[in-house]
Amino acid sequence: MLRSLDDALALRDRLGPGRRLVVVGAGFLGAEAAAVAWRLGARVTLLEPAPVPLAHAVGEEVGRVLARAHRERGVDLRTGATVTEVTEAGVRLADGREVEAEGVLVAIGSLPNTEWLAGSGLTVADGVVCDAYCEAAPGVYAAGDVARWHHPHFGVPMRIEHRTNAASRAWRLPGTCSVPRRANRSRRCRTSGRTSTT
Ligand SMILES: Cc1cc2nc3c(=O)[nH]c(=O)nc-3n(C[C@H](O)[C@H](O)[C@H](O)COP(=O)(O)OP(=O)(O)OC[C@H]3O[C@@H](n4cnc5c(N)ncnc54)[C@H](O)[C@@H]3O)c2cc1C
Repeated sequence: MLRSLDDALALRDRLGPGRRLVVVGAGFLGAEAAAVAWRLGARVTLLEPAPVPLAHAVGEEVGRVLARAHRERGVDLRTGATVTEVTEAGVRLADGREVEAEGVLVAIGSLPNTEWLAGSGLTVADGVVCDAYCEAAPGVYAAGDVARWHHPHFGVPMRIEHRTNAASRAWRLPGTCSVPRRANRSRRCRTSGRTSTT
């Protein structure tokens, strides 16, 4: 688990010159962890099922640049590599091969913690479904990683795992805006001296 400062310090203690780390998933977190582990002297294998890492987020061209940057520095980036199992020795790939390591970091995304909302009456579909104002039901609001909110500009529901999204969506909650919600879709919100228009 890599969630807190203590988790990060514990991981750092397992790394160092010559230590082998397998990172499963070359998304933002996996790539970042791989780069830091490499800088600490670890031998890093970065495994990613997609042909180009991060292409879904930054496009193929930039994804290829990032892949080259990792490889040029000595990270053993393997694309088209799907991990099926964490083993005693490291991890096993879908083709049966094993990659050995002293440490394994799995960075393949997260699931919203919504099981406890079963039967609550809220709509849960990979997150708590809510409107553009974070309202999931009358008087019930969701913000942050767990919220799947309607994006008025793109016209689709979105769930974004990003700290800035958590903070900016929280602004939409009642009590954080000076104008009553729904009264005007272009509202001015003021928090901590900053102003935004939605
Ligand atoms: C390793 C890592 C690196 C990251 N790096 C970045 C970064 O560089 N930049 C960035 O913008 N974002 C980053 N993120 C994402 C960022 O941490 C999240 O988007 C942000 O924390 C979301 O805030 P949140 O409050 O929605 O959820 P969280 O921070 O996950 O907080 C949710 C809290 O609710 C608690 N909880 C869960 N269920 C219940 C329950 N039933 N009852 C009570 N409490 C409950 C949890 O224990 C937790 O404390 C990173 C995430 C990780 C894991």
